[in-house]
Amino acid sequence: MVKIRFLGACGEVGRSGVLIESEDTEDAVLCDYGKKMEGEEVFPEHVSGKKLSGIVLSHSHVDHCGGIPLFYISGSVPLYSTELTYRISEILLHDMLKITSGYLPFHKSELYKMRKYTQFLKYGQKRKIGSNTWITLYNAGHIPGSAMILVEMDGKNILYTGDINTTETQLLKGVDPLEIPLIDVIITETTYGTTDHDPRNKTEESFIKCVNDVLDNEGIVLNAAFGVSRSQEIALVLTKNNNKGNSRITLDGMARRISKIYISFSEMLKNPKKFVDSMKKIHFIDQQKRDYERRKASSESGIIIAPSGMLKGGTARYYAENIINGDNNAINLVSYQVDGTPGKILLEKGVYIDKNTHEEIKVKAQINHFDFSSHAGKSGLIEFLNNLKFKSDKKVFCVHGDEEVMKEFASNISKLGYMAETPETGKIFKI
Ligand SMILES: [Zn+2]
Ligand SMILES: [Zn+2]
Repeated sequence: MVKIRFLGACGEVGRSGVLIESEDTEDAVLCDYGKKMEGEEVFPEHVSGKKLSGIVLSHSHVDHCGGIPLFYISGSVPLYSTELTYRISEILLHDMLKITSGYLPFHKSELYKMRKYTQFLKYGQKRKIGSNTWITLYNAGHIPGSAMILVEMDGKNILYTGDINTTETQLLKGVDPLEIPLIDVIITETTYGTTDHDPRNKTEESFIKCVNDVLDNEGIVLNAAFGVSRSQEIALVLTKNNNKGNSRITLDGMARRISKIYISFSEMLKNPKKFVDSMKKIHFIDQQKRDYERRKASSESGIIIAPSGMLKGGTARYYAENIINGDNNAINLVSYQVDGTPGKILLEKGVYIDKNTHEEIKVKAQINHFDFSSHAGKSGLIEFLNNLKFKSDKKVFCVHGDEEVMKEFASNISKLGYMAETPETGKIFKI
């Protein structure tokens, strides 16, 4: 028998963590151990590092990797991920430490220790990590380096999706259910379990039209995007469609560093050459001349890509504050907007508060939202499930979604013949 314990991300998006344990051996695998941005319980339920055969990380987003350094305060657990996931996680974890300025129970030393215990896996490479346990990573289509995790323990095959995208994007191919062997159980994300995204080409078309209209009017377009993956996806969409070829595209903030890492890991992307060529057409703000170059970008017609995606901080705020008062400018929010963030308030109420003076800045620029989500929508998730091969009962555990979304998704797939569960935090299931 194998026990699956849900440690977090049950009825919420954040603090992912699933423990898979053998009842016959000492084997125990932890899939992800994330951190939630806010709330009383920011980490998943506690697990002793001593009992773990290994931690497997699906991808670099903090809601999946943010708690992993806790295991290196006094432990030495092997950590498995793709090399790209590890490189980006390291940057995001250092950034998280900086932002929370000492409020976390771990420090830089734990991150350095974590590095010593990390082993890299390629997609499709099967690795034995316990007496009767193997793990394999498969492309998840979510962000570069992201993986679904197949845990094979005591003859049971458990697929943990992490975050997945079934739609092909400019950066990545979508997940391929046909490369997954027979499974007993799937633990799936359900972020968009009840809604479908607009078709990607439609979103790209309206986005490009908006950008071109602003440029025709000599305006400035700020695309506020997550530095990891979204900024690069937007860069690819823009360079693919920038037929005039003469509009300047400026990239700033953390997106610069991440883009350089993606260039060196371009083999992890759908079209390595296209990505590298696209990056050559982008102007990266020069750190030495940043004041001058930022002033120039926010005063002359052109396109800017800058994090953070919700205007909470980063260079996007600087640009937003400089261009928001111009009626021929536009601010495009191309990432998901969490309630209460400046991006969401701007979108819903048309109000922008200056970070330093706390004064309301007049909004004359047009404010747009484009859904470039990197998560599968409802139909994509169901189609993915339908293409998987189950040994017998089609058992599905739903996680990583708001409670109502998880429940509705589970009820919908139950009607299609799946045995769907919406586990509560701490609950253990035996298979
Ligand atoms: Zn993610
Ligand atoms: Zn996530």
